[in-house]
Amino acid sequence: MRFDIITIFPKIFDSYFNESIIKRAQKRKLIKINIHNLRDFTKDKHKTVDDKPYGGGFGMVLMVEPIYKAVKKIKSKILKSKKSKIILLSAKGKKFNQKMAQKFSKLDQIIIISGRYEGVDERVAKYVADEEISIGDYILTGGEIPAMILVDTITRLIPGVINENSLKEESFSKLKIKNCKLKINFEYPHYTRPEKIKIDGKERHTPKILLSGNHKKIKDWQECLTKIF
Ligand code: SAM
Repeated sequence: MRFDIITIFPKIFDSYFNESIIKRAQKRKLIKINIHNLRDFTKDKHKTVDDKPYGGGFGMVLMVEPIYKAVKKIKSKILKSKKSKIILLSAKGKKFNQKMAQKFSKLDQIIIISGRYEGVDERVAKYVADEEISIGDYILTGGEIPAMILVDTITRLIPGVINENSLKEESFSKLKIKNCKLKINFEYPHYTRPEKIKIDGKERHTPKILLSGNHKKIKDWQECLTKIF
């Protein structure tokens, strides 16, 4: 999977993408992340990427031209046969969820456009991007954190990135439980050492069943406490 992120703040990504699972996935060549500075696709000496909105109004708008140029250049470098998607991050877009992450994890390339300021010239949503995606009903100052969220959620679903057993028993994973006709979302409470700890003066224990070594009983307990949503 290749991710291409278009942004006016390329350095924002340095820290997150160079740690932990995302770092390892890149090292093992399971993913490749390219960060593109939108200012490199401008033509004036000030590297202008934004302008005042037509019709008036507050703030500045990211211009369509540099974004279109960036997308065209990125697309020219990959084979047409590859499955790709161009995503514009936008608070008014379709709400991102685990199902979409699973669908996107089957692609070969995702181009992500991070907006800033008042937003992005509407022609990007209409004629350049394939999809407009929101990560939730709130407004961030820019699309960089949403871009990291997309890369993170999608990367961990790519085969080989993390232990596939961990993916089976997560919130939002569909799992068929025995004696249950429905496929449900699966997540149960987790505990690790210490076995007991004082919190605000009270001793808080790990449930005894988890220390019993009886795998059948543990499985039953986990299924009983499965959160269904
Ligand atoms: N005026 C816009 C509105 O009311 O929807 C908000 C623009 S926001 C300050 C600047 C950029 O941040 C957006 O163009 C988008 O790329 C990104 N952004 C903000 N909130 C987002 C969200 N919930 N999901 C995805 N991207 C978001």
